Formats: sequence, C-alpha cells, structure tokens
Amino acid sequence: MRSVDELYDGILAGKRAALARSITLVESRKREHREQAQDLLTRLLPHTGKARRIGITGVPGVGKSTTIDTLGSNLTEAGHKVAVLAVDPSSTRTGGSILGDKTRMARLSADRNAFIRPSPSSGTLGGVAAKTRETMFLCEAAGFDVILVETVGIGQSETTVADMVDFFLVLMLPGAGDELQGIKKGVLEIADMIAVNKAEEEGASRAKAAAVEYRAAMHILTPKSAHWTPPVVTISGLVNQGLDDVWQKIEDHRRILTENGAFEETRRAQSVRWMWSMLEDRLMESLKANPDVSAALPSLETGVREGTLPASVAVDRIAGLMGL
Ligand code: GDP
Repeated sequence: MRSVDELYDGILAGKRAALARSITLVESRKREHREQAQDLLTRLLPHTGKARRIGITGVPGVGKSTTIDTLGSNLTEAGHKVAVLAVDPSSTRTGGSILGDKTRMARLSADRNAFIRPSPSSGTLGGVAAKTRETMFLCEAAGFDVILVETVGIGQSETTVADMVDFFLVLMLPGAGDELQGIKKGVLEIADMIAVNKAEEEGASRAKAAAVEYRAAMHILTPKSAHWTPPVVTISGLVNQGLDDVWQKIEDHRRILTENGAFEETRRAQSVRWMWSMLEDRLMESLKANPDVSAALPSLETGVREGTLPASVAVDRIAGLMGL
C-alpha cells in the first residue's frame, strides 16, 4: 500500500489509480489500513462536500443501470465528473454485487470522466454503507462533482442511502393500480422525486397513468421537507427522455434548500446521525468480541426466551460484564 502522503497528493491531483488504491484502503479490514484510511480521510475532509450527492433506487429491472448510464453520460458531456457507487447489502451474503457492475453501464464505464465502483462486498449494511460513504468523500476530494449512489430496495438499505445523499430519486415501473399496491409506503416517504421509467413510445400512456397514481399517493403523505414537494415525472433511461428535466429538478431542489439553509442543516444532521450509527456498530462489535459476554450470552438468552429471566436483568448482567 502506498503511503498516505502519496495517496493524498494523488487524490487531489485527480489520479484514478490513487483513488482506486485509497478505496481499497478504506474497504480493508486490517487495523493498520483502517488507521491509514482514517488519517487520509481526515486530511481530505476540507476538500469534500462540494458534489451533488444523489441516491437512486428501484426494484431490479426498473432500469437503474440504464438510467444511470444515460444520465451519467449526459452529465459528463455537460462537463461534470460523475462517480457511481453502490450499496448492496445482499453482496455480503452472495460475495458479489450486481449493483455498480461496470458491464451494466457500458457508456459510463468507458468514459474517462466517470468512475464506477461496485458495492463493498463484506460486512453488515452499516459496514457497507460506512465504506460507501467514505468512498464518496474520496471521490469528492478527487474532483467528482456528481456522486450517484445506487441501491436496491432490500430492507433498510434505501433509508440508509437516503441518509447519505442530498437527493433521493426513486424509479418506478409503469403500470398503475396493481403495482401501486405492492409499493412500500416507506420508499415514497423518503423520495425527493419519483420517475416512472420506460415511458417512451407505447409505454408513454401507461407511465403517465402510473404517474397520476403516484402523485395521488404522494399527496396524502406528510412531506419530507417543508420546502420541497417531490415531483413525479415520466422518463426513459433507454432513449434519454426526460432526464434533462430530472437534472433540472435536482438543481432546483439544491438551490431552494440552499437558499433557506435546509441543505447545510440536513448535511450536518446526517453527519451527526452517522457518528451515532457508527458508534452503535462499534459498541456492538466490542460487545460481541468480549469473551465473558460471549460465554454468558447463550444461557442469558435461553433464560429470557423461556421466561425464567427478565430481559432487564439479562441486560444488567451483560452491562456488568462489559464494566458499564
Ligand atoms: P436495473 O436492474 O434496475 O438496473 O435495470 P436495468 O437498467 O438493467 O434494465 C432492466 C431492463 O429494462 C433491461 O432490459 C433494459 O434494457 C430495460 N430498460 C431500462 N430502461 C428502459 C427504458 O427506459 N425503456 C425500456 N423500454 N426499457 C428499459
């Protein structure tokens, strides 16, 4: 592994090799790598924060990679530098990530102003997300001004990604009614925009009908922000339709929330929530690594399960073993 100084200089010079090596460092589980990564991140922190951070979600097959490929290419053509990251908690089980796979984004993967990185493939959702968040900082310091974070709606991953970005875009399939029934209300609550994809040609009328339904569904939800009403639009990632409008709305959102201070406030709150979530993970790790606790846990858990031990007493005993 290169020295932190070299990586620092390389990243600030926008060198891809230095960026890739730094991400490897951030993803490493070795203690000495962790320390180097923390050092690097701390030094780079003043150079982060300038990018548009956008989360993109949707069920498999909705067109996430197609849309990211097209939107990302539009953006690099307009002079932006685009990084595509992914949060795929299933990769921790399967050992491989389908998200952020370069072969899924043919144009962007050949674009020198784009950088695609698949999901880290080990750890819990919290661990995967932490690494992705740190990778986002590295990309920002390396001069990427648009970060697209892709995720698929598994469990908590959407909420986790929504909490690391400025704007959360939810892609939906056309087809109203039936589809709507299956939509998790939770994802609508965290959306800053809904885009019904596959709306070109004969798909147009079904997509428009779906958009009407989603607008109605959004209407009855409590808005995420007092300053922003999430628009519902129709797009085609395949034929590059409606994506300029999507980008314009992302820019509008940033301008409006910046003007009233909500933008900075949200980022600050995200950082603090992040600190707490990492702290919780760290405490749980040290708890599980404690040999006294590991030895005592099975019988405590059995006692709680069988109703012979109050849960509060079990917690007191575990806390006692931890010296708390
Ligand atoms: P992902 O699983 O969400 O990443 O979806 P993909 O981008 O891999 O797309 C799934 C399938 O839908 C592929 O066969 C795409 O070609 C197709 N697809 C994606 N976007 C569109 C679109 O805008 N219109 C049409 N007709 N097909 C699309």
